[in-house]
Parts: sequence; structure tokens; C-alpha cells
Amino acid sequence: MPKYVYSFGGGHAEGKAEMKNLLGGKGANLAEMVKIGLPVPAGFTMSTEVCTYYYDHKKTLPKTLEKEVIAAIKKVEKAMGAKFGDVKNPLLMSVRSGARASMPGMMDTILNLGINDAVAEGLVKKTGNPRFVYDSYRRFVQMYGDVVLGLKPVHKDEIDPFEVIIEKKKHEKGVQLDTDLTAEDMKDLIVKFKAAVKEKTGHDFPQDPMKQLWGAAGAVFNSWNNERAIAYRKMYDIPVAWGTAVNIQSMVFGNMGEDSGTGVAFTRDAATGENVFYGEYLMNAQGEDVVAGTRTPLPISDLARQNPKIYKELDKIRLKLEKHYRDMNDIEFTIQQGKLYMLQCRVGKRTAFAAIKIAVDMVTEKLITDKEALERIDPDQLNQLLRPIFDLKEKDAAVKNGRLLAKGLNAGPGAATGRVVFNAPDAEEWKSRGEKIILVRIETSPEDIKGMDASEGILTARGGMTSHAALVARQMGKVCVAGCSELNIDYTSHTMVVKGKTIKEGDWISLDGTTGEVLEGKIPTKPSEVLQVLVDKTLDPKKAPIYQTYAKVMAWADKYRKLNIRTNADQPDQAINAVAFGAEGIGLCRTEHMFFGEGKIGPMREMILAENVEDRKKALAKLLPLQREDFAGIFEAMNGRPVTIRTIDPPLHEFVPHEEKEQRELAQTMGVSFEKVKRRVASLHEFNPMLGFRGCRLGIIYPEITEMQSRAIFEAAAQTQLKGIKVLPEVMIPLVGNVKELADQEKIVRRVAAEVMAEKKVKFPYLVGTMIEVPRGAVTADAIAKVAEFFSFGTNDLTQTTMGMSRDDSASFLVPYVAREIYGKDPFEVLDREGVGELMKIAIEKGRKTRPTLKVGICGEHGGDPSSVEFCHQIGNNYVSCSPFRVPIAKLAAARAALYRDENTIYFLGEDHEIKRTNVQCY
Ligand code: ADP
Ligand code: MG
Ligand code: MG
Repeated sequence: MPKYVYSFGGGHAEGKAEMKNLLGGKGANLAEMVKIGLPVPAGFTMSTEVCTYYYDHKKTLPKTLEKEVIAAIKKVEKAMGAKFGDVKNPLLMSVRSGARASMPGMMDTILNLGINDAVAEGLVKKTGNPRFVYDSYRRFVQMYGDVVLGLKPVHKDEIDPFEVIIEKKKHEKGVQLDTDLTAEDMKDLIVKFKAAVKEKTGHDFPQDPMKQLWGAAGAVFNSWNNERAIAYRKMYDIPVAWGTAVNIQSMVFGNMGEDSGTGVAFTRDAATGENVFYGEYLMNAQGEDVVAGTRTPLPISDLARQNPKIYKELDKIRLKLEKHYRDMNDIEFTIQQGKLYMLQCRVGKRTAFAAIKIAVDMVTEKLITDKEALERIDPDQLNQLLRPIFDLKEKDAAVKNGRLLAKGLNAGPGAATGRVVFNAPDAEEWKSRGEKIILVRIETSPEDIKGMDASEGILTARGGMTSHAALVARQMGKVCVAGCSELNIDYTSHTMVVKGKTIKEGDWISLDGTTGEVLEGKIPTKPSEVLQVLVDKTLDPKKAPIYQTYAKVMAWADKYRKLNIRTNADQPDQAINAVAFGAEGIGLCRTEHMFFGEGKIGPMREMILAENVEDRKKALAKLLPLQREDFAGIFEAMNGRPVTIRTIDPPLHEFVPHEEKEQRELAQTMGVSFEKVKRRVASLHEFNPMLGFRGCRLGIIYPEITEMQSRAIFEAAAQTQLKGIKVLPEVMIPLVGNVKELADQEKIVRRVAAEVMAEKKVKFPYLVGTMIEVPRGAVTADAIAKVAEFFSFGTNDLTQTTMGMSRDDSASFLVPYVAREIYGKDPFEVLDREGVGELMKIAIEKGRKTRPTLKVGICGEHGGDPSSVEFCHQIGNNYVSCSPFRVPIAKLAAARAALYRDENTIYFLGEDHEIKRTNVQCY
């Protein structure tokens, strides 16, 4: 008989932390906490296999489940000394969802389940605390009504129907807080809530505890496929097949009076990464009160004063958990009449800053190794360290001018400027129009996820550092200021009033998520600490703690990565920036970008419009010195590192003027008739330029172009070498599909190289290679490698030609394609491993069969995408090349790929068929 239910509590647990796939994160960690001796209320977990079964069997549950559940309840009853559904001595339960990966707020928890009219009366007798009992009961009706029976706001400007009833009650009684309502008030709320349920659903609120339990469990399984869960899974790549577990756990009560309470905490500061206990709590409160933002919680440091005994116990647990899990944890706890209970622990979400700092600190503290530190930093997180920050001078000036609107909690560091919107659907819509926006909410809820994702920054009026807004913003890497209580937000009129000023929808504001400041209008930004040190060289690294942390990560990445990292750069200044970031060469220098530079486009156009070889050569002669100087600048900047230069690639019509006015001007400078220019431009028109007269086809039909470019490259190389600076040019021929194309061009390149060396009386090394960017090139790579000394995958074109879709024309269907998961990701962003990747593997295998030392790189956009970098590592590339600012990301991705591969020996091609990486020195 399959086992679906796992019990925990009373000192024993059937599960453990490693069983997350089966028990979900919450269930597995509850079991683990029991195992390491922490105080956890008893309960049991229905495994994720139940969820999978549920969806595989038309939303029905396995037959044997009920028996297992009843047996598990018996165990809990024994451990807790109370009975589920009993009137005299009732046991109340919580029903909590928990998937394999934590999905904060994605699925709702139901507390105080098992209570009904009779049980409530019994509990009053038992506890002598009617306020507590009716507060618990009204919470249960509210949560069950929302989650199971579907009583929730329908329109974006609406608030929760139960909250409407509560607000009305508070208004009647003239009180501010829920805690000011009496037992009788609560009792009355229950009657009104139940009436609302009856009106909405046509049924009475369920009184049978077992029925309540199955209703709640079913709702958890259903919520796995609600809209916000789907949105969240999409955003974080969580497969639908994982399913969620359900945890059913005996209640402990934080709402039993002033000696009770509930809280959430991080074992370190999740925003800055500082090694301090960080959290918030509320006395006489239950469940989500702390995170919901309805009452502003107290910082955990206050607990040290208010209840030193509990604080000490909690602090001990913090250290125990960090040692046990070797990571920062996020915990949830409840105090019931002076006794502490742990309700949850998990590896805590953190900002990119914190992720990097904690990983680096934990290496210093010897909790983890440098390899583990690298595994814990997502390469894209490095982006946050490179992002602009507010220019302090500008911000100070704004503050002096009275533009500081308010100060809240610094929940998500960074600088953001945008236009104000007041709800998530508007955020999405404005963003789709290309607006930069700041989402302003009283508090956020899981429904707001997509809107938060669309925003530059998030601002809330209520809630603390562990509020939903703060948590999600940190995870998304969004700038966030939370709990800014001075804001008076009015959803219906789409305005907020602060310090007597009215901010309307669409007005600009700026958020400093590092200090919590909210400013009116736009504030200019300046480069991050890392850029100030590395690129601008205006900051002393010793005075830059963020830079220092960054530098450690990079040093470890360099230690473990096998791939070399190059950059795509067409200009000396780009090359210099890339070298500052640690680039080891240029993987792609696009010569055509140079032609658009100062004074070059004229001769370029003359060359294109020339009608015979003589005229074309004349124009090329004008271009030669200009190109040579460009190349010399790059060689100098790269100082001996390899520089891959691609000969002209785009179709010629891209260079000529299409407007009559410009054509007339050109005709005049060239001394030909306007008609002639017009005719020639028209003759260059193509229906499919991407598949037209471009790439090596140009150099084959007009060999004098290749000749000029080779001469410019090699004369620059000679000139640089003669200055005492080493050079390593690699001439790359684009769009080769047939070895004869390459051979044709190679002959020209090598002849010119020999000529230049003889003329200048200097020798320098150089290579001739090709791009692999059409499928024919990949499948005939063995022949091509007879000529090519290196391959560089041009994966932009290779993706276009393999998939038969133009990158520039694909948006209309590719976005829906990705939404329907026909392709998991946009193949122009993340390399399509099965299709394009397969061709790359074929090309490498065949190429190295002919030429074992073949050097292989990639220079498409994918070179800076972590998943694609990993793939390049796996198939045996020597290097990846990406834009200068992505060099650090590519380095870290490469190190992570190397560690993953080496330690788990999961070889891409299977254990017995590993592609050999060449040992050729390639930087
Ligand atoms: P989430 O996944 O949204 O964090 P949880 O299942 O952790 O949801 O429940 C939310 C909150 O409900 C918890 O932080 C805790 O305060 C409260 N809670 C859950 N189970 C219990 C319980 N058995 N006793 C007391 N409070 C509980
Ligand atoms: Mg929740
Ligand atoms: Mg929780």
C-alpha cells in the first residue's frame, strides 16, 4: 500500500529535511526541526504524491488516504492530549500548504480548523477566555470563507468582504484595532460572517470538523493551479508536476493574551546580509497578523527587553539552525502563554546584496566552502551590484528643496525612479506601454505578484520588513520601501496624500530602497560601487565594502571556471571596460560598426555604389587607414589578448541612404547623378536580407573588401607589435556554410598577412577561422575545420536559421509560444539546447575530429546568459564572449557549471561519451 501520510511531533518524525520532493519544504523542515529537538506542535504531512494523484485522477483523492489520515490524527491527539472535534477538550488544527520550492504566500493557510459552535462553547469553558475563543472562531470562518468558499475581492479596487464587515464593526464601536474588539463583538462578527457565507454560497458554514478538514485539504490542492500560483511558477521555473504537500498541524495560540504572541525572523539581515538577528513580532496576535501589515509589528530586539527568557531561547535556536542548515534561515514562531513553539524554518530569501555577502561571510566563518558560496549566488544576482545608485549630491539637493516626501523601511536596496500607479493590473498595463513605474499599495498581497514584477520599485504604507511586499521585492531584486505610514493612499481616486501634497497616478517619484526615503520627482543616478572602482576608477577599493565582496566572488569564480570569458567590443573604450571586468579577449569585433563612425560612412557609401572594381578600390583605399587606426586602438587596449575580428557581415543596403534628400547629397559628393544613386540603392533591395547577399558572400563577390579589411587588421597588428605591444588577431569569416567559401576567403587573408609581414619586416601570430551560424556549416564542420583554426558560434543567426524564424519578426508569435510552453524560453535569450544546441554539439564533435586543437567559442547574445554559458561548458567550448557588463555574470556562470559538472559527474552526453575540451591555450 503506498504511503501518503508522514507524522511528526512528540520527539519523532517520519520525514526529514532531505525529503522536500515528497513532503514539500515546509513539511520536510517541520520534521527536521522535530529531529534536532526544537519545540514543534505535532502534526502530519500529506505528501506531494497526493496532489499528483489528485490531478491525475480528475480531482479525486486516493482511497487509502482517509485511513492514514485518521491514524495520523490519533497520533497527534495522543501527543497533544486533546481530541479533534471533541467538545470538552478539543484539538484545533492548521492546514498549511507547502510545495517543494518555497512559494511565499502562494497558497493560503487555514488556522483554528475543527472549531464549530459547540466546540467554541466547550473551549470557552475550558479556557475561561471567551475573547480568545471567538477571535479564533471568527478568524477560522474568515480564512475558510476566503480560501475554501471563495469569498474574496473580485475587482482590483475592492477590499476583502470580511474586512468590510470588520471595518464596519470597528467604526460602530469607535475603535482602531482588532484587539480592541470584545468577545461579544467577535461573536457578532461570526454571525455576520456566516450570513455572508450563506448569502454567497447558498450553504450553511460547515460545522463538521472532518468535513472542514477535507474541504481545506482539497482547497490547498486546488490552489496549486490558481492564477497566482501559475504566475509564480512561471516566473521561477517551477514545474507544475511537482505538486504541493498539505501539512496538518495542531494549533498553538499566539492570541491567548499579552503573554502570547507570534513572529517571523531571519537568522541574518535579509536585506543587507549583516550577521544580526532580524525579525518582527506582535503580542496577542495570530498567524499572518505580523506579515499582513494590518498592525505594525515590533522589532525582535524589543523582545529581548519584553521577554528575555523567550528571546534567549529563540536566539539559541537561531544559531542552532544556522549551524545545522549552514545557511541563513527564515523562521516563524508562536508564543503561547509564555512557551515558545517553532512553526517553520526554511532557507531564507534575500536580496542579491545579502546573498552575496552572506555567502562570502559564511566562507570566512568556515560554515561553508568557497565552492558552496559560488553555488549559492545566482549569476544574475551580480547584476544588482552593478546597477546604478542615486547620485548623493542630487538626492541631497532634492531633500533640501523639500522633495523628501516620507521615510519608510529600507526593504529592498537600490535606486528606482518611476511613475506612480496604485494597483497591479495598472502596473502591468503601463509597463507594457514602455513606462517605468512605481507600484504604490497600502499593502501588497500575492495577487499583486505580476504587477510587482512589472515595477521598478514598490512602495507600501503598511507592513514591516517581513511583510509580503518586502519579502517578494527582495526575491525579485526590486527596490522596495515598506511600511511608510505617512502615506494616505486612496485606491478609488488613484491618489495619495503625503505631507499635505497630493501625488496622482502618473506622477514621478523616486525610491531609495537602501535608506527608505521616498522623494518627489526624478533623481539622477550614478554608477554602482563596483563600477566606480573598476571602470571609472574614482573609488578606492579599500573604501568600497561591496566591491570587496564582489572581488572575492570573482576570485573564486576564476579559480574554478574552465571556460575563458571574452567580450564583444567594437571600440577601444568598450574593450578597456571589458578588461576592467576581467575579459580575457575579444570574441567578436564587428567591423561594420566602425563604418558608421566619424568620416567613414562617406567612403563606405562610395565603395558600395561604385560600378566597377577600379572605383571600388579607390573608395576602399580611403577606408583602409581609418579601419587600421580602429584596430590599432583595440589591439593596444587588449595588450596581447586575442582579438577576433569579423569581416563585413550585413547586407550593403544597410549602409546607403534611403531618403531622397540624402541620396541627392551623396550624388553631389560623388559627382554622379541622383538617378544613378537612386538606381543603385534600389538594386540593393532584398526581400529577405537576413538570408540575402551578406556575410562571406560579400567578400567572395567583392574580394577587394576582404583584402582591404585584412590589410587594415594586419597593418594595425604590425604597427602595434612594433611598438612593443603583443598582438593576437583572429580573422573570422561570417556565414560560412561550405568549406569552399572559407577557403576562398582564407587565401586572401593569408596572402595579405604574408605581404604585410614582408613589407613591415615583422612577424606576429594570427589565426583564421569561421563563424558557425548556418546549419550547413555545423553539419559539415569536419570539412570546414580543415581550413578553420577556430569556430565561433554565432547563435543569433544559428537560432534564426535553425528554427526558421527571424528574431526581428518573431515577437507576434514567440511571446504566445512561450506562454503556451511550446518553447520554454525565448530561444533568442536562452539557447535552445535540443535544436540549436544539438547542431553545436555536432559541429564541435566533427570539427575536433579533423582538428583536435580546434578552438571553439560563442559570440551570440547567449554568451552572457547563465544557462547558455553552462551549456557551452558542457559541450566543450573553450570560451564564451558577451557584452562587457555581462563578463562577471558569465564568469560566475562558468564556475558554477564547472563545479556542477565536476562534482556531480553529470556529463551532458552521458558518462561514456564525454566531449573532450581541447587543451589549446586560448586566451
Ligand atoms: P505561509 O506558507 O504563507 O508562510 P504558513 O503555513 O506558514 O503559511 O502559515 C502562516 C502562519 O500561520 C504561520 O506563520 C503561523 O503564524 C500560523 N500558523 C500556521 N500553523 C500554525 C499552528 N499550527 N499554530 C499556530 N499558528 C500557525
Ligand atoms: Mg500565507
Ligand atoms: Mg509560513
